[in-house]
Amino acid sequence: MLIVPEREIADLMTRAAAFDAIEKVFAAMASGDAYNFPVVREEIGHEDALYGFKGGFDRAGLTLGLKAGGYWPNNLEKRGLINHQSTVFLFDPDSGKVKAMVGGNLLTALRTAAASSVSIKHLARKDASVLGMVGAGHQATFQLRAALEQRNFEKVIGWNYHPEMLPNIEKVTQEAGVPFEAVDLPAMTEADVIISITSAFAPSLMADHVSPGTHVACMGTDTKGKQEVEAALLGRAAVFTDEVAQSVSIGEAQHAIAEGIIIETDVAQLGAVINGDHPGRISKDQITLFDGTGVGLQDLAVAAKVVDLAVEKGIALEVDF
Ligand code: NAD
Repeated sequence: MLIVPEREIADLMTRAAAFDAIEKVFAAMASGDAYNFPVVREEIGHEDALYGFKGGFDRAGLTLGLKAGGYWPNNLEKRGLINHQSTVFLFDPDSGKVKAMVGGNLLTALRTAAASSVSIKHLARKDASVLGMVGAGHQATFQLRAALEQRNFEKVIGWNYHPEMLPNIEKVTQEAGVPFEAVDLPAMTEADVIISITSAFAPSLMADHVSPGTHVACMGTDTKGKQEVEAALLGRAAVFTDEVAQSVSIGEAQHAIAEGIIIETDVAQLGAVINGDHPGRISKDQITLFDGTGVGLQDLAVAAKVVDLAVEKGIALEVDF
């Protein structure tokens, strides 16, 4: 068995490699070559922790495995550890023997950022020049860095529920040499692409805050009850997702479906656009919305890539198991 510890991931994995892995696996999901297993997520009644598994099998890439982990809210204060903890396990699909164990914390951030980037590549207008950020937490910095590589953005505008966190994303824009402006939500109408990445349970971004022609990537809603954008926005948009079953149950679409604004068949897979089986954006005035819920196959795809890179560089630890 190969082990790639968390501490090695930052030097091994690039944004480009994560983007490529995620684009390929979304395509494989839409063509039926890859599928996700039902998600297990449990309150374990200890340390207020949420723990679970996300797994799947990609027949095209021959990647089988799961990510185990969750959220331990007391970690930072009590142990100096980050609150999100996860590990990816990969198995040999021919024999069932365990192949690799890979640190999953940084990979989760990178694969989530890659997902919104893939959606921008395939759905945003080519001439998009203003990027709007709703959210300024840990994940927002990754989303922003990856998004800036997809179009020639001339400006980033940002809003956050906790304004004192805005310097997190401003720092990323400074590093990238792109001007940043803190704005109120109605000013998001200036944006050509909006990424929302918050842990909110009530909408911040309303339908009237989004102009025709905008691409919106909703990345924070990954649980029943969470919500970042007004459900009416999904009624005005062409809606895409990583996986339809998750979008309508734990993603942003759960609310628009419950309110009868859209139905399940209104939600298309981004992978179908990548494969050329769906036209994607069909006019410059259309609003496109990507409901990124986060699937196990994303974790497996980036973990498999990191194992290859670790083997190439002689960094993977080998254990007789
Ligand atoms: P974080 O705790 O670092 O940041 C939380 C963000 O949400 C901050 O910007 C905060 O100001 C904002 N926020 C908190 N309460 C709010 C409210 N009531 N209204 C509006 N905004 C509010 O968290 P993070 O690591 O950046 O993760 C953000 C979200 O992304 C979480 O919900 C997480 O579960 C989700 N996530 C999704 C995926 C995926 O694949 N889709 C992957 C990783 C994380």
